Amino acid sequence: MNRVFNFSPGPSALPEAVLARARDELLDWHSSGMSVMEMSHRSKAYVALAEQAEADLRELMAIPAHYRVLFLQGGASGQFAAIPMNLLRGKQRAVYLDTGLWSDKAIAEARHYADVQVAASSRAAHYTTIPERADWDIDPQAAYFHYTSNETIGGVQFQTIPTVGDLPLVSDMSSDILSRPLDVSRFGLIYAGAQKNMGPSGITVVIVRDDLIGQALPVTPGVLDYRKQADNGSMLNTPPTFNWYLLGLVLEWLKGQGGLAAMETLNRTKADRLYSAIDASGFYDNPVDVRYRSLMNVPFRLPRQELEQPFLDAARKAGLVNLEGHRSVGGLRASLYNAMPLAGVEALVDFMGEFARTHG
Ligand SMILES: *Cc1c(COP(=O)(O)O)cnc(C)c1O
Repeated sequence: MNRVFNFSPGPSALPEAVLARARDELLDWHSSGMSVMEMSHRSKAYVALAEQAEADLRELMAIPAHYRVLFLQGGASGQFAAIPMNLLRGKQRAVYLDTGLWSDKAIAEARHYADVQVAASSRAAHYTTIPERADWDIDPQAAYFHYTSNETIGGVQFQTIPTVGDLPLVSDMSSDILSRPLDVSRFGLIYAGAQKNMGPSGITVVIVRDDLIGQALPVTPGVLDYRKQADNGSMLNTPPTFNWYLLGLVLEWLKGQGGLAAMETLNRTKADRLYSAIDASGFYDNPVDVRYRSLMNVPFRLPRQELEQPFLDAARKAGLVNLEGHRSVGGLRASLYNAMPLAGVEALVDFMGEFARTHG
C-alpha cells in the first residue's frame, strides 16, 4: 500500500487512523456480527452511535443547549434552498454577502424563495478579497444575513465573525468547520457538507438556534424541514447511516488530537509554511488579500500557464496529488484540511522549491 498526500478540495483526505478503524470494524461492528451499514437506523445500538456523534460535536464546538444539531442529506447545496424555506419566517427579504463562487450559488438558489439583497460583492475584484464592512448594505428588517466563512475555490476566509446588528447570522462553513474554535452563540445557523473537513460526502450538518425553527414555508419538503427533523432526531427518513458513523469516527479522532484549539495551531503552522514559501519564491503567486488568506485552501499560480501540467505530473510522481485549481479559475490549489499532516505540507514546500529551481 502506498498512500499519497491528497490535497483534494473535497471529497478530501480523511485521517488514516479513521480509515483503519473503519476497516477493522467493517465486517463486525462492536460484536454485533454485522457491519454498521447493515444495521437498522432504529436499532438501539445505531441510535446510541448517532447520539454519540452529536454529543462529540457539541463538546468539540461547545454548542450551547438551545441549538439543535441536525444530520441531513442533500449537501450544502440542499441547504442553499432549505435555509430560505426555513428561516424567512413570514418575511420576504434575506441579505447575502457575495465573496465568491459558493456565495454566488447560495444567492442564486435563495432567489427562488426570497427577495435577496446582496449586501456587497467582491466579484469586481475577482473574488480575491472581502468587501469592507463599511460598504455593506443591510436591511435591518430582513430575515437573516448569510455569508460564506471560507470560499473553497477562491481561497478567501473570514478571520473574524462579522457583526450584522440583530439579524440572525447564517454561515456556510462547509470548508472550515472544525478547523478552529468558534463562538457558536454568535450565529443563528451554521451548516456544512461533511466532505471537506468532517467526513465523507453524503451527510450535512446543520446547527440552528432553537427559536428560529418551526415556521418553514408550507412547500418545504419534510426532509428539509428543520423542525420535523429536529423532532425526529434527524431520522424523519433513513439517514446516511454509514456516513454518520464515519463522521463520528472523525470527531472522536479530533478529540484525541486535542480538539479545535490544537487544530487551529496546526492549521496555522501548515498554512504559514506554504504561504511563506509562495511569497519568498519569486516564482509562485497567491492572489488573495493577505488579510483574508484561507488557512484551508491555498490557490497559487506559476509564472507561465504551460508549466502547470509539468508541475502536476511531477507532483504526482512525488506522491502529491489533486493540486489542480478549480475548473472555473484554473491555476493550482492546495487544500490543507485537518487531516493533512504537517509532513504533507513540508513535502509540498520542498517539491515546490525544487520545481522553481529547475524551471525558474
Ligand atoms: C463544497 C462546498 C459546497 C457544496 O457542497 P455540496 O455538499 O457538494 O452541496 C458549498 N459551499 C462550500 C463553501 C463548499 O466548499
